[in-house]
Amino acid sequence: MYDVIIIGGGPAGLTAAIYARRANLKTLVLEATACGGQIIITPDIENYPAAMHISGLDFASRLESQANELGAEIKFEEVSGINDRGVEKDVFTDSNTYVGKTVIIATGTNARKLGLPGEEALVGHGVSYCATCDGSFYRGRVVAVNGGGNTALEDALFLSNIAEKVYLIHRRDQFRGDAEVVEKVKAKENIELILNSQVTKLNYDNKLNSIEVTDKDGNKQNLDIGCLFIAIGRTPATKAFANNIKMLDEGYIDGEYCHTNIPGIFVAGDCRNKEVRQLVTAASDGALAVHEVLKLLNN
Ligand SMILES: Cc1cc2nc3c(=O)[nH]c(=O)nc-3n(C[C@H](O)[C@H](O)[C@H](O)COP(=O)(O)OP(=O)(O)OC[C@H]3O[C@@H](n4cnc5c(N)ncnc54)[C@H](O)[C@@H]3O)c2cc1C
Repeated sequence: MYDVIIIGGGPAGLTAAIYARRANLKTLVLEATACGGQIIITPDIENYPAAMHISGLDFASRLESQANELGAEIKFEEVSGINDRGVEKDVFTDSNTYVGKTVIIATGTNARKLGLPGEEALVGHGVSYCATCDGSFYRGRVVAVNGGGNTALEDALFLSNIAEKVYLIHRRDQFRGDAEVVEKVKAKENIELILNSQVTKLNYDNKLNSIEVTDKDGNKQNLDIGCLFIAIGRTPATKAFANNIKMLDEGYIDGEYCHTNIPGIFVAGDCRNKEVRQLVTAASDGALAVHEVLKLLNN
């Protein structure tokens, strides 16, 4: 039996693993895809203390090595649910059931989807949620970005250096991103703003050919593009725990001091209901969750 099972190998989960191993706890990390979480897709981190100009991929790989070196067991399996049996908790994946004295949920967030027909099947064929990962496939082509926050603005800027032209489609007339970034976007000749508008249809055969965009008055236009980059926010990856863990309407887990409603099950990182979702707060949650695990185990 594990002392602690950590669900999610992002910055929160791996920091928890580091702290748990330093406290000599038998630790298992269950990660659905690849260690590192969301940060993998960012080319440059500038705001993590003492780590100026490190890529997200490097940051993730250092975290994984640190957790590994300290003796955390990391398995690549997606968790589908947890069963609370008091002093023991079952954690289910497709292929296994693991038993732990405590559990830390650190599943972070996923990119929000538009919910249009064909969207899922077109991922990798003209629909992307990561400009830095997929942008270079569309060198010299026409692409579109959908969204109005910093991520969408930065995606548009990044793509404007690769693509021939970038449409930036936003449903409002003002952007939510930083004024400085908005100005940079407006100054770019090959970025065309399409405001007060939404993407309403994907036109495709085996790949995306064009998108239908509808403005607030109902006027429609078709844009021929190679790829639509969707950057409309993120949603918590907590569906697997909806039957027993208390969460808010949007799915963020309610957890002051990283406690959930079930004793022995903790929450850390971006999937927790909190104000600031960043690397430092994810790491801080990881450390705090283990502190609370230790208090419980020592009692
Ligand atoms: C494009 C981008 C750029 C960013 N840049 C910065 C920056 O420069 N500085 C900064 O401080 N922050 C930045 N952030 C925010 C930062 O990445 C997050 O705050 C941080 O990654 C949150 O860590 P986390 O571990 O809580 O969640 P995540 O990073 O989301 O990690 C969660 C992990 O859990 C796994 N998982 C999910 N569900 C399951 C399941 N059922 N079973 C098993 N595993 C599961 C996921 O695969 C993932 O690996 C950026 C975010 C994005 C999207």
